[in-house]
Amino acid sequence: MKKLKSPKKEQKNNAQSLVKLDLEHIWHPCTQMKEHEKIPLVPIKKAKGVYLYDFNGKSYIDCISSWWVNLFGHCNPYIAKAIKKQLDSLEHTLLAGFSHKPIISYSARLCALLPKKLTKCFYADNGSSAVEVALKMSFAYHQLLGEKRPYFLSLSNSYHGETLGALSVGDVELYKKEYKDILIQSLTTPVPKDSDFSKELASLKSLLEKKGKNICAFILEPLVQCAGNMHIYSKDFIKAACELCRQFGIHIIFDEIAVGFGRSGSMFALEQCEVVPDFLCLSKGITGGFLPLSVVVTHNDIYKAFYAPYESHKAFLHSHSYTGNALALAAANAVLDIFEKEDIIKKNKSKSEKIFALWQNLEKNKKLGNFRHQGMIFAFDIVQSKHKRAGMFVYQEALQKGLLLRPLGNTIYLMPPYIIKEKQVAYIVQTLEEICQRL
Ligand SMILES: *Cc1c(COP(=O)(O)O)cnc(C)c1O
Repeated sequence: MKKLKSPKKEQKNNAQSLVKLDLEHIWHPCTQMKEHEKIPLVPIKKAKGVYLYDFNGKSYIDCISSWWVNLFGHCNPYIAKAIKKQLDSLEHTLLAGFSHKPIISYSARLCALLPKKLTKCFYADNGSSAVEVALKMSFAYHQLLGEKRPYFLSLSNSYHGETLGALSVGDVELYKKEYKDILIQSLTTPVPKDSDFSKELASLKSLLEKKGKNICAFILEPLVQCAGNMHIYSKDFIKAACELCRQFGIHIIFDEIAVGFGRSGSMFALEQCEVVPDFLCLSKGITGGFLPLSVVVTHNDIYKAFYAPYESHKAFLHSHSYTGNALALAAANAVLDIFEKEDIIKKNKSKSEKIFALWQNLEKNKKLGNFRHQGMIFAFDIVQSKHKRAGMFVYQEALQKGLLLRPLGNTIYLMPPYIIKEKQVAYIVQTLEEICQRL
């Protein structure tokens, strides 16, 4: 007869066999797979609120909202219910020639939250694809008007995704250098390092005087370059830079994929920048972290340029199979419900200050510096360490202690689901205090 294993041991074996099978068949994103010879992979069994649970019953606070997508906690019951309800009536339909209620009501609700001018929603299913859509629309618009504008313009230290077009307008050398020969043409202008941005504005001006008429769009992440080590920069620069670009007929693309839906402190960062972009790209938090979805919102001048008799071949011919998925839109509607019902933006304002006050307790450690925050984003840099990969050291130690952090190089950041409690933040800070003493 087979001997019964103790439940605890069985769980452990279960986790180990899962890891083994995973590594046989799954190539993980943004990972040097060889690292998993030393660094354990963590299969997650279930999640609730800010917690993820592994197969040994260990919990982890999701300090980074699972790559910045989760707004209201894992398995949020309200969003889950909305998806379940949708599941019984319509799961998906193509969006060419067809439509459905969740997408129609969502589009109207989203536009009502945005500046009046932004009235047209074009859907895709991830952030990079939204960036591709905005770039293609801008390029095609100028083409339709008979203008040749082969360049895009972006900021130094920017990140816009990893498909080839999005990669071209990003400035993360590590992701980009391999593909240089096959990228589209893009120019870079410096992002301000601090509140004095006169030099950066002058650089932009001189670039525009030389090449302005060859640039179709300026793409930027308003307020915070998240993947660029959580670099927070001046809204006044953004406003001035956008005004300059406009003088040369250059479109403005706001990539709010990371900072949209309250992350920057306002519902959308454009409110704080006082700029109405020609294209607004949204994704990540859009479904509260449940399902892939993205949208590009633009205005009627752009829309009109493509609006013509069929024979003119002016239509914007771009599509994805899962564009406008009804389940994702049901989740997106539920997310807006929560923002409205619970007055999240207002609540987050005081929460943000309280979290930052706790975060600043870490400032006592002189190996840490550059403490910063914007809305529900909190960061500091490791400025000194005996560890060669200090960020990696913190990641591994934190994981042991039940925190999921994923440092960007030597930048440690907290970008939690908005439902996080003060005592959970206190635990995060206390744990980091202890870990950072050993840097
Ligand atoms: C994550 C991100 C993207 C890319 O979105 P994906 O869904 O990962 O393709 C683009 N821009 C910004 C600012 C992002 O943070």
